[in-house]
Amino acid sequence: MNKPTAKKRLDKLKQEIEKYRYAYHVLDKPLISDAALDSLKNELEKLERQFPDLVTPDSPTQRVAGAPLNKFKKVRHSAPMMSLYDAFSPDDMQDWEKRMEKILNPPTPLSKGGEGELNYYAELKMDGLAVALVYGNGKLVLGATRGDGEAGEDVTQNLKTIEAIPLVLRRPAEAELKKIGLTDESVKKLYAALANGRLEARGEAIMSNKVFKELNDKYKKLGKPLLANPRNAAAGSIRQLDSKLTAERRLDCHIYSLLTPFNKGGQGGFLQTHEQEHELAKLLGFKVLKQNKFCKNLDEAVRFHDYWEGHRALMPFECDGVVVVVNDLSLWTKLGVVGKGPRYMMAYKFAAEQATTIVENVIWQVGRTGVLTPIAKLTPVKVYGVTVSHATLHNLDEIKRLGLKIGDTVILERAGDVIPKVVQVLPKLRTGAETEIKAPKICPRCGGAVEQAAGEVALRCVNKNCYAINLRRLGHWVSKSALDIDGLGPKIIEQLMKEGLVRDIGDFYKLTVENLLPLERFAAKSAENLVAAISEKKEIELGRFIYGLGILHIGEESALLLSKKLSGFARSGVAREIRSKKISDFILAVNKWTLEDLEKLSDIGPIVAKSIYDWFHDQHNLALLEKLEKNGVAVIPLAGQKEQTLAGKIFVLTGSLEQLTRDQAKAKIRELGGDVSSSVSKNTDYLVAGVEPGSKLDKAKKLGVKVIDEEEFMKMTS
Ligand SMILES: [Zn+2]
Repeated sequence: MNKPTAKKRLDKLKQEIEKYRYAYHVLDKPLISDAALDSLKNELEKLERQFPDLVTPDSPTQRVAGAPLNKFKKVRHSAPMMSLYDAFSPDDMQDWEKRMEKILNPPTPLSKGGEGELNYYAELKMDGLAVALVYGNGKLVLGATRGDGEAGEDVTQNLKTIEAIPLVLRRPAEAELKKIGLTDESVKKLYAALANGRLEARGEAIMSNKVFKELNDKYKKLGKPLLANPRNAAAGSIRQLDSKLTAERRLDCHIYSLLTPFNKGGQGGFLQTHEQEHELAKLLGFKVLKQNKFCKNLDEAVRFHDYWEGHRALMPFECDGVVVVVNDLSLWTKLGVVGKGPRYMMAYKFAAEQATTIVENVIWQVGRTGVLTPIAKLTPVKVYGVTVSHATLHNLDEIKRLGLKIGDTVILERAGDVIPKVVQVLPKLRTGAETEIKAPKICPRCGGAVEQAAGEVALRCVNKNCYAINLRRLGHWVSKSALDIDGLGPKIIEQLMKEGLVRDIGDFYKLTVENLLPLERFAAKSAENLVAAISEKKEIELGRFIYGLGILHIGEESALLLSKKLSGFARSGVAREIRSKKISDFILAVNKWTLEDLEKLSDIGPIVAKSIYDWFHDQHNLALLEKLEKNGVAVIPLAGQKEQTLAGKIFVLTGSLEQLTRDQAKAKIRELGGDVSSSVSKNTDYLVAGVEPGSKLDKAKKLGVKVIDEEEFMKMTS
């Protein structure tokens, strides 16, 4: 091949490779396989080796190149890279809006007025390293860190290793630019800047949680030091003097701002909104966050924040809040900059996930099955927006793992609705007055013996008549997921126990208004209500009934499963049918199962099988069931319920429904024989997508799972 032909081929290859990069990184729609793309890159490399003088800095082969640097050069930013002010509550956000309205001093009130409301653009606030990318004549000429905001470091060579950053800007088609609202004149200006001018983009270089995990797994195997967290890893990678090491870290980069000549608020600028800035960035070949959203008022922006705060776990990268930006660029100059940051942007932070506090004491709680659980009593502290004064320590092993002593300062963590947990002890803060945590030798509630079963970490009170255990069992029987009886809170149950009126669950059904009236807390009305509430739940669905019995290892799901097997709906070889409502028939049906039969039931493991078997072969338990029957309690087998139109169908729910709660929707599905799963797989039959569906929707689409909306779901289940 002669040089002119090689040059033509080289140029075409570079263009093709860039096209595929854009499709893969920016549009998230790969056009060809990785192998095919690698093959094109190989050909390019070979040609460049043959004609070294045809190598240009913007060639995809030049992403990783050059010898390690001695140090980074300092570079001055064209305009300061500002910090943001933080908000922590909806009130903070409203105050911010009020301050802006005062400055804008509009003739008509801006907020709550529909037409005149301030519009916003809400963006996820990535936790990485802020970078500036400068393009001369459409080619990347400088990549810099934020530094002190005025000047940063020249990390061009390292940023080039990030595939999400274009080395050459894309020249959008005129139609694409018109579609996002650019005028004829603006299009002309943009083309001129691309051909012969300067453009600057700013964004965040990040490491995804997935890459972070993969790298740490690898480093662990190699015995290398581990990366502390994704943010740290991203920052550290960019400040590597050897760009080959940066390349290995597989960083990502999202753009959130465009500078010159996109001047905000006039002076030759040609964009009207911040949303357009993002759209244009995407057309120029940058990656932008697809979660970002136009919000027609502050309420919507606050909702965006709340949604993502609750869905942090779904995000592929670390994120510590939402940046809310005044969308109308013409207002930016009016609002201006105060101190360190612009007035037209606000970082609305997510509630802190971690906080430090002191473990004042450890108490041992006795559970329904007799398990003793250590609970740390803490100096109250606010974490993730909630004041926390207790945290479970799970068991002795966990206490040992943490190395925890009473009096220690600890790091507490709370994620979403999850129960707070102690994740780390800070031993350097010890005073010497800390004391060891000792395992109790007797039950703290009844004084009975405590044992640790072989192979189990849990300590148990083995006293069959333990007051604390009984209290829990009674509470479990009336709880929401079991019998769901109103008016039987822990205090009332304790009172009934102390008065000798209730010893076991069978006694609830003997309570009369006359029994209750003399008691404190009871008046005629409340006594009547309670007796009625108990009587109302005398007939109970089999699944709830089994769950309420509190058999070891039998949770809500397995109780339901067992009731299905018994009712002959489940796809199991040994399913038996019971249609009777009598508890004695239910016992007969269960006891037809041998231990081997139980183990063969699908989805029931050997431990659960053994537990069921033992429970139904215990004379004490059988006597209790007999007592329940004698006192008028009956079970409703699934066979006596609705037609099983959804039998065998697996549903996954995502987003919020308007007419039903999650639990109600689940109940509906189960009532009709369907199953609910928490994650989408190829076995999923339907994804019910409510408002603001999460990543499950994307996954369902990818797997070809049928997606239905709330309306369709209601039709299906009515
Ligand atoms: Zn006890």
